[in-house]
Amino acid sequence: MDRPSRHRPLSFDASAAWNAEAAQVIAGAVNSNIRLMGTPIPLCFSHGEGPYLFDLDGNRHVDYALGMGPTILGHAPAAVCAAVAQSLGRGQLFAGQCSDELALGRLLVEMVPSAELVRIGMTGSEVVQAALRVARAFTGRRKVVKFEGQYHGWFDNILVSNAPPVAAEGANLPLPREPKLESRGQLGHGAAEMLVLPWNDIAALESVIAAQGHEIAAILTEPAMCNTGAIPPRPDYLERMRELATRHGIVLIFDEVITGFRLGLGGAQERFGVTPDLSTFAKAMAGGFPVSALVGRADIMRLFAEGVNHSGTYNANLQSVVAAVATLDALRADGGAALERAEAAGERLIEGLRRLARDRNVPLRVEGWGTAFATFFAPAELEVHDYQSFRRADAARLRDFLAALALQGIRPTGRGTWFVSTAHDAAAVEETLSAVERVLA
Ligand code: PMP
Repeated sequence: MDRPSRHRPLSFDASAAWNAEAAQVIAGAVNSNIRLMGTPIPLCFSHGEGPYLFDLDGNRHVDYALGMGPTILGHAPAAVCAAVAQSLGRGQLFAGQCSDELALGRLLVEMVPSAELVRIGMTGSEVVQAALRVARAFTGRRKVVKFEGQYHGWFDNILVSNAPPVAAEGANLPLPREPKLESRGQLGHGAAEMLVLPWNDIAALESVIAAQGHEIAAILTEPAMCNTGAIPPRPDYLERMRELATRHGIVLIFDEVITGFRLGLGGAQERFGVTPDLSTFAKAMAGGFPVSALVGRADIMRLFAEGVNHSGTYNANLQSVVAAVATLDALRADGGAALERAEAAGERLIEGLRRLARDRNVPLRVEGWGTAFATFFAPAELEVHDYQSFRRADAARLRDFLAALALQGIRPTGRGTWFVSTAHDAAAVEETLSAVERVLA
């Protein structure tokens, strides 16, 4: 691929004009609320190619938002685009089965340790709902454990305590936490079934299960926390969660919408060696095309054919399925060489960022994994293991850092998470580190 020449971002006038005009017809000028948050400059993009995005002013950005995770093969990946283009003439929707669905189902069953049966959906939010419904049907119980600072979609029952208030250090918070609704207009009765706990705290989970285990249908968790920082599970945490769930007949659900096909070919469950009962996938599964999956134990998943409703007009539409098959094929080719390459590029970036921070004596912390990591400003002594501890980092300084990076054409997500794709080569990494060096200077 020819490298586009580097344009130093100087002007954002065309983007600004577009956003002003868009606000006249699109509510808030965005079509997903996440895009209202943390964008230092309101941009409008014309196209993407590999690790780069181009905006209306012709500026080139090294992209680490990757559509909030999906474009694991970079923008406009040739193999996926070709497969989708070839499929277009065959139609889109059949209100019935299409042969390609079987190939996708088989890939998921082969790649994901917990997948015995699968269901395909369109978005992460939807398959999380399907997971909760089937877990409740299977157990005959209502309550669900979810964790502070984790996000599982925007629906009423689950948009709870993603970003609750930060407690004073050492404050004695109740267990479970008071569930916090996150949107105006949100109904509270579904949320009232949520038992909100701090993550990475096995004692908290044990105590709530000891008291209410017989009423708990599911434990829903990101296996690696990626919606608040990029926080690994403590040693043995997921294993003990698995044991508790099994002992109390609770369905363990890993929400792998971010970690799936990113932290490993078989997701975080493969990387950490802990197998949930159900798991949800989306994002990296189809390289940017809309598709999601709920996978899991056959005895639970079978209920979808026995009275548990999971529906969707667009589920397993031909283009999404073809894109998913092409993406998963690309990821698992040569024993997963592409994902290893992305991970290695991300690790070089992490090392480089840490070195720059050390050299300049800046308390910039870089934590996570090669393909998904977080930057934040906090002293080395701050142990970040859950939502509350992460929020003790210096948010204003992170905002300034991200705004300065944006002016250099470097684009992590608005909350300081960086996603790395298989298209982030040495040139993209070097360009990023040079820009960060200028920013820190
Ligand atoms: N679960 C997790 C862990 C997520 O990060 C997200 C989206 N960021 C969702 C669910 C919701 O997925 P979607 O935006 O596709 O509905």
